[in-house]
Amino acid sequence: MVPAVLDQRRVERARAVAATVTDPELPMLTLHDLGVLREVALDEDGGVVVAITPTYSGCPAMATMRDDLLHRLQAAGFAEARVRVALEPAWTTDWITPEGRAALAEAGISPPGPAPRREGPVALSLSPTRRAVRCPRCGADDVALTSEFGSTACKAMYRCRDCLEPFDHLKEI
Ligand SMILES: [Zn+2]
Repeated sequence: MVPAVLDQRRVERARAVAATVTDPELPMLTLHDLGVLREVALDEDGGVVVAITPTYSGCPAMATMRDDLLHRLQAAGFAEARVRVALEPAWTTDWITPEGRAALAEAGISPPGPAPRREGPVALSLSPTRRAVRCPRCGADDVALTSEFGSTACKAMYRCRDCLEPFDHLKEI
């Protein structure tokens, strides 16, 4: 077999391994579901390089993600694996896959709506964003924001006025 084909297989196998790593804060989501896994390639020496893009800025989960990726890849035989952090383009919740959104809802977390447009300088808004949020438990859209900051800064807390259950909403960025 020609080396290019072998390289291709190695990259595909490494991608499959990397895609199963989950997010430490949202363990129902894989890095693939989150859209965090940007590229898997080989460097000049044939080592696997995985590029990931950080999610919410300052998220401490990034270091854990990186370590988990390296451990998983090394265990799968990619001893020389490296993780590269790609900052551009910036991650947006729009990159979360349909499967990821379904997994969030199943875990009782309301998935993010469309991300706000980012053109030019980003204005930091401290007031809660108006969103179309549905209760992930009963599907009702009669919900009330209880806190813009939930269990983590990336989540807002809501309460359903229909089934009265509180739930987290993953904020759109
Ligand atoms: Zn409800």
